[in-house]
Amino acid sequence: MVGKKQSSGRSRPQRADAETASGRRRRPKRGARGPQGATPARIQSWVDDPASPWGLMERPAPVLDARPWAFSISGEAIPVGVYEPGTAGFRHWTAADSLRRTADLWAPLLGRHRVKRWQPAETLPVTLDAGSDLNAYYDRTQLAFFHSGRGKAAVHSGESPDIVCHETGHACLDALRPDLWDAPFIEIAAFHESFGDITAMLAALSLPQVREEVLPALVANKASPLSRIAEQLGGAMRQSNPAAVESDCLRNASNRWKYVAPESLPASAPATELSAEPHAFSRVFTGAFHDLLSRMLRDTGASPSADDLAAVAAAAARLVIDAVAAAPVQPDFFAQVGARLIDVDAAVFAGRYGAVITDVLVGRRILTAATVPGSRSSAAPGKRAAAARRGGAAAGGPRQTLEINAAHYGLSTGGILVDVPRAFGAGSASGRRGVSATDPTAAMERSADRFIGVLFENQRIELPARTRAKGIAASAPAAGGRATHALSRTDGHLRLSRLRFDGMGW
Ligand SMILES: [Zn+2]
Repeated sequence: MVGKKQSSGRSRPQRADAETASGRRRRPKRGARGPQGATPARIQSWVDDPASPWGLMERPAPVLDARPWAFSISGEAIPVGVYEPGTAGFRHWTAADSLRRTADLWAPLLGRHRVKRWQPAETLPVTLDAGSDLNAYYDRTQLAFFHSGRGKAAVHSGESPDIVCHETGHACLDALRPDLWDAPFIEIAAFHESFGDITAMLAALSLPQVREEVLPALVANKASPLSRIAEQLGGAMRQSNPAAVESDCLRNASNRWKYVAPESLPASAPATELSAEPHAFSRVFTGAFHDLLSRMLRDTGASPSADDLAAVAAAAARLVIDAVAAAPVQPDFFAQVGARLIDVDAAVFAGRYGAVITDVLVGRRILTAATVPGSRSSAAPGKRAAAARRGGAAAGGPRQTLEINAAHYGLSTGGILVDVPRAFGAGSASGRRGVSATDPTAAMERSADRFIGVLFENQRIELPARTRAKGIAASAPAAGGRATHALSRTDGHLRLSRLRFDGMGW
């Protein structure tokens, strides 16, 4: 049931082998090969995805329980070794390598914000096979991955570095900004998805062989295995629903999507169109990030090197983390993060990338010329720049509870309660046309209302037991289904809360 690109890996080219640089090409061995003498213990992993042409690599065995940012994979301990694709040992160590690589990517940058542990605990539990599904999720208790199909045709979502890095990205962002978890705005849910895909790309770029391989495509700002997220899972989903995913992967960061207010978009659409579904809408910001990598790289000189790419990836990671750390919870979250990318660049890189960031974000319509920080009509750029220099998180601040009318979703119980900030933060970019800075509460209410509508239309909200529902609420999923959110009863009202960032689906 998987696409024809999927194979056992035995016949796969191994151009991206970790040992290529030393001139020695290791072949995958059958079964485990334990540590021998002084030789560092090695494991084998996919570079990017089981269906990526970049194939396999050998890596030093990752230390999963290293603190901070420790993981524990449930089930039997698997001895370190180079295992053949298709075995449980291979799946364990390829996932372990992706988990460790992602945590190591973000750890120093999160540490600068004094964030040194997972949101739920010191150690993040991981279930590599939580049952039959084409999915993966982070739910604040664990990272969970699934399998679909049998034997050689089976797809294990935890075997794809793209997917494992994406999910771990959700957990890293949740550690930095726990207040985004329940924020009832489409752009915040979509940014979380974009951050997962950005994480998958940056974690791949932490590998020297990926930097070598992807250099020409990235200089040309073209699609590549780097930009194609979750090729294998996308192929498997395409078998049952060809319109639901892109033609060559699940989501492609090399895209041309431009920002429109997501509240104006349909709740779902084929992958060839933009919709308000968070994974679909995330492609706008992820596309801007891919543009940014390409433009920053070209800016380094006439013929950028793999080392230039390493420096650009490190700078881009710093820009994104510091920008999202400072962006307030608002409906126009893409513009909030975008404006802070420019502020952080001014504060940390002396404005080195400012022109490129501005060009990309205005080109994607995430910012308008009038809302670019530093432009004459931009609100309070000084305050934001000062906040960027302090590196302060935008979390916290006074909150208010809004009551969204539940009747038009088909629910007879009072309203649906959501928590939002009391007001827009100081120095708001107000980057979005139609978001009124003079009546922020009304703007947040409209945006939260549409967010709930999009969730209902995509069957993503679980209702409490014995709830009578009509209209779109009548098709709510059963408990344990594909829901990302739940409504719970409190004092005659229903309160909306997030259950999980549900992996890869649309
Ligand atoms: Zn996700």
